[in-house]
Amino acid sequence: SPLPLIPYFEKIIDEFRELSSENHSLSFHSDCSNCVTHINQKLLDHIVKNLLYNAIKYSPQGGRIAITLDCNREEIWFNIQDQGIGISPDYQEKLFQPFVRAANVGTIQGTGLGLSIVKRAVDLQGGRIKVESKVNCGTCFTITLPQILVPSC
Ligand code: ATP
Ligand code: MG
Repeated sequence: SPLPLIPYFEKIIDEFRELSSENHSLSFHSDCSNCVTHINQKLLDHIVKNLLYNAIKYSPQGGRIAITLDCNREEIWFNIQDQGIGISPDYQEKLFQPFVRAANVGTIQGTGLGLSIVKRAVDLQGGRIKVESKVNCGTCFTITLPQILVPSC
């Protein structure tokens, strides 16, 4: 059955607001009031939660994180934008590979696996992932997923 996306995002974002002990401010905005997806919720959880967790982890205390969601008949897409440490251009493509972590992570802990799982999940659904980032300014990940699932033969 189709998953209504606005309540889905609102619930996860509320969970992350409670999880963030460092007063990050998370905002959510969507212009489409009744976006749905047919994508498996567990798979979508991997995508959304890994990206939100990164946005919090790689942002300073009090950083603003903005989540926006939109859809049309063919696709849904969402942005997760932070004001964190950023990713230099030479790492922006590589970090979808397992165990790759950028040089500017400093003492922030991680295994380097989250984004490789995100990429795999997005690929499995025939979607796309885009990263735009500037060191010391912030990062925006955009995920686009098709609305119509292509039946497998
Ligand atoms: P984990 O496996 O616990 O998620 P991780 O966060 O290090 O560990 P990924 O989520 O795969 O691993 O991210 C890979 C690398 O990409 C990070 O180590 C970091 O260098 C960079 N990165 C990911 N998201 C962000 C972000 N929002 N801001 C800045 N750097 C990021
Ligand atoms: Mg991570």
